[in-house]
Amino acid sequence: MPTSSKYHEGLDNTVNLVIVKEQIAAASVASGRASGAVSLVAVSKTFESTKIEPILVAGQRVFGENRVQEAAAKWPQLKAMYPETRLHMIGFLQSNKVVDAMTLFDVIETVDRPKVARAIARARDRLGSCPELLIQINTGEEPQKAGVWPGEADAFIGQCQRDFALPVCGLMCIPPAAEEPSLHFGLLREIARRHELASLSMGMSSDYEIAIAYGATHVRLGTAIFGQRDI
Ligand SMILES: *Cc1c(COP(=O)(O)O)cnc(C)c1O
Repeated sequence: MPTSSKYHEGLDNTVNLVIVKEQIAAASVASGRASGAVSLVAVSKTFESTKIEPILVAGQRVFGENRVQEAAAKWPQLKAMYPETRLHMIGFLQSNKVVDAMTLFDVIETVDRPKVARAIARARDRLGSCPELLIQINTGEEPQKAGVWPGEADAFIGQCQRDFALPVCGLMCIPPAAEEPSLHFGLLREIARRHELASLSMGMSSDYEIAIAYGATHVRLGTAIFGQRDI
């Protein structure tokens, strides 16, 4: 089990960033991959711009947010200062927020149902551009969680690609909190392999080293960088 991925209380958050990046590089090399094979998505949800800015100053350029409205309040200004920043949508996407999300985010990781896929395709035709898309798989078949169930994944991926011609580049999952995550990471990797999808967004603060061993290309870390969230 990873023991080194804890938030370091009392340290500057930029120190946490450095530590986490070293651990990601080490885990990548340990699983026979290049040290830069895995990209870090710094999950800044609930944290204010004043907390995010030092992380940008330290060089981090990929961030994750889970709410369109919150991202719209923080990121246009931050992106104006750091234009090469890439913002990932990692939260539940309401179909009436799709256009807003597509103008704010560079990657949407949570495409999970035909209604949203159709809304994205329509907006893409209108806007003339589309973020990179990942499909969220509910690997644990948890009713309260978003994501396509594994048994429906093949059909939904095919529908996104063929019917809507969407730029699907990978898959994302959030394993059940109480289960061994490796089974879920392995399942996500297997579905991606079947469809020749390159991106695998899996692994959070508590399990990212395991996710990297299972082929994650993106790990999404909030607590390990920014500390505990109040809400
Ligand atoms: C909040 C969140 C994360 C980050 O979780 P930590 O445990 O704080 O690293 C990752 N992915 C998603 C989808 C999230 O909502």
